Amino acid sequence: MAVVDQAPVPDVMHKPRSHSEFEIIRRFFATPNLSFPREGIELGIGDDAALLQVPPNKNLAMSMDVLISGIHFPLDADPSLIANRALAVNLSDLAAMGAEPYCFTLGLVLPHSDEKWLAGFSGGLEHLARQYNCPLVGGDTSRGPLSISIQVQGLVDNNRATRRSGANVGDKIYVSGTLGDGAIALLALGLDSHLGSEFSLAVSEPSAACRQYFEDAYFKPQPQIGLASAAGKLFSSAIDISDGLQGDLQHILDASEVAGNIRLGAIPYSKSAMCCVSPENRLRAALFGGDDYELCFTVAEKDCVEAESIAKALGVSITCIGDINAGEGIDYLGTDDSPVEATEQAFQHFSATT
Ligand code: ADP
Ligand code: MG
Repeated sequence: MAVVDQAPVPDVMHKPRSHSEFEIIRRFFATPNLSFPREGIELGIGDDAALLQVPPNKNLAMSMDVLISGIHFPLDADPSLIANRALAVNLSDLAAMGAEPYCFTLGLVLPHSDEKWLAGFSGGLEHLARQYNCPLVGGDTSRGPLSISIQVQGLVDNNRATRRSGANVGDKIYVSGTLGDGAIALLALGLDSHLGSEFSLAVSEPSAACRQYFEDAYFKPQPQIGLASAAGKLFSSAIDISDGLQGDLQHILDASEVAGNIRLGAIPYSKSAMCCVSPENRLRAALFGGDDYELCFTVAEKDCVEAESIAKALGVSITCIGDINAGEGIDYLGTDDSPVEATEQAFQHFSATT
C-alpha cells in the first residue's frame, strides 16, 4: 500500500491546525489500547506534557530512534509492520540497558492524513505496547515526508543499568538468538543492502516459509526484554546489535578498554539463513549487516552456567561466541581456533564494503 500516492481523505494536516488533527490523535493515538493507564503514569496524552512518576530507587532510561521512509523502511510497507518495527527497535535499546519498558512518545510526520494507513499504524503499535505494558503518553504530529520518531522510556534499578563499559578480561562474549537475519531479509524482500553486489541469495527464490521468516525478522524483531530482565544482572556489559556484530562488539570493547575474540564457527544462524545464503554471506550478514536487534553481552566466567540456565528456562537461545582479553580490537578465530587475519581472505572484501 503506497502511503504518499493515496488520495488524502481528507487532508487535515494544514496549518493552522484543524479540528481534525485532534481527531486523528483522539481516534488513532489517545485510544484505550495504546494510551492505556499504567502505574506511575499520572497524565498521558491530552495536555502540554505527560507527567511520569519515577520511583526514587529507579533511573529513568531514555532512548530514541528516527525511522525515515525509503531509508529505514520501504515507503509502501504495511503500516502495522512499520509501527511494529519502529517500537521494537526502541525496546531493543531498553533491553540492552536492562531497563523495563515504561512508556513511549511518538513524533509522526505524514505526507497526508490517510485513515486506513493510520489505523494500520496504530494497530501495529498496540500489540507491542500491550505486550510490554508500555503505553503511548504523548507526541507530535506534523506534515512532511513520512518519518517516525519514537522515544521510549524505561525504568532500571539505580546504578544497575547494563552499560557498554563493564566488560572485564576473562569474561565470555555471548549473543542471543541468531545473527544475520536482518541483513539477509533485505535480499529476501528484494530491498537494497549496503553489503555490496557479492552479497546475494544462494537460491533463486526463497521458499514461502523462508520469505515469511525473513519478513518477520525484518519487521517484527523481538526485543530481548525478557532475557535482559531475567538474566541482565549477570551481564557485565551489553549492546543491542543494530549495525552488525563487528561494529557493535567493538563499541563494548572500546568503552570497556579491552579486546575480544570471536570464534567464527560459533556464530549462530537461523535455518532460513543456512538454507538461503552461502557460508561467506552468512558471515558477512552477521558481522556487517545489522538490523538483528539481538543482544551481544559479556558474562563473568563464574556466572555463565547461571546465565545459560536462565536463558534456557525462558526458551531464549544464547550462544557463547568468544572471550574478552587484554588489549584492543577483535581477533577472529577460524576452525581449530586458528587466527583468521581480518585483513586477508574473506575479510578483505568485507571491510571494503562497510
Ligand atoms: P502542543 O501543541 O501543546 O504541543 P499538540 O496539539 O501537538 O500539543 O498535541 C496535543 C496532545 O496530543 C499532546 O498531549 C500531545 O502529546 C499529543 N499528541 C500529538 N501527536 C501525537 C502522536 N503522534 N502520538 C501521541 N500523542 C500525540
Ligand atoms: Mg502546548
